[in-house]
Amino acid sequence: MAKIEINLTKRDACPYCGSGLRKVLFALERYSVCRCKSCKGVFSDPYLSEKGAEKIFSEPDSVGVINTEVESYYDREFVLANSRHTFKVFDWLLDFLEKNVSGRKLLDVGFGMGLFLEKSRRRGWECRGIDFSDEYYKYAKETMGLDVMKKKISEFTGYDEEFDVIILWDVIEHLDDPGETLARLRGMLKPGGVLAIATPNEKSLLAFLAKFIYVIGFGLIKGPLSSVYVLEHPLFFDKKSLRKLLERNGFDIVLSKQDETDIERLNLGKLKKIIVKIIFFLSRSMRMSNRIIVIAEK
Ligand SMILES: [Zn+2]
Repeated sequence: MAKIEINLTKRDACPYCGSGLRKVLFALERYSVCRCKSCKGVFSDPYLSEKGAEKIFSEPDSVGVINTEVESYYDREFVLANSRHTFKVFDWLLDFLEKNVSGRKLLDVGFGMGLFLEKSRRRGWECRGIDFSDEYYKYAKETMGLDVMKKKISEFTGYDEEFDVIILWDVIEHLDDPGETLARLRGMLKPGGVLAIATPNEKSLLAFLAKFIYVIGFGLIKGPLSSVYVLEHPLFFDKKSLRKLLERNGFDIVLSKQDETDIERLNLGKLKKIIVKIIFFLSRSMRMSNRIIVIAEK
């Protein structure tokens, strides 16, 4: 595999509210996880910027460079063959949207492997999407025949029509300026249109256990925390902080629910997989699962 350099950017201000006051929660190997003293938002510093991420992920063979456990997570054939949870969640979301939204025009921002676009098209939605990756774009356009654009989110000003639904799946945690992006996407929705977001949950049982190990190890055992507060994510949300950000940018929350990482998509050893499965089982009953889905209305 080619050696790919990862450059992190220093932050001066909170990415949510612009405040310069913060508390360092954990000092990890290459970055610290901080909490803004003003808005309580959690972020990393230094961080992987949108530009930095585009540079890494537009290289061939870049998947798995930062974390080998996610190599299979983005392998289309592997996901199609092994994943049930991912598609179950897609079906749940489409069921909800079809019941609650009258129009059928959908935009997937950061469509990735195009799995959601493919599924929604099959269910009769009129789908469009953007992604910065050349590989994903070409596959979606040429092989799948989808109506997509190769575009960075920061440079995306919209199509010539408004949408009933915008999907932001595993994207918000990668943004430089989440408030600005949300406000811009809001402008692309029809009145009453909805935005559906999925992102990791910072207040999960998994994160709690990783923090516990970090604290009892006097800050020396950083491994578990580094796989919760991953380098690829400059921003970390929980239900409350995501709600606050959405409301500040003109959205009303319609629904929020727990979800969990589709473990069958990860490249974990047998023992690790069993441990994670037990933690996920407990997380469900404690309402501390490691992902959140929020649906918000314009
Ligand atoms: Zn702040």
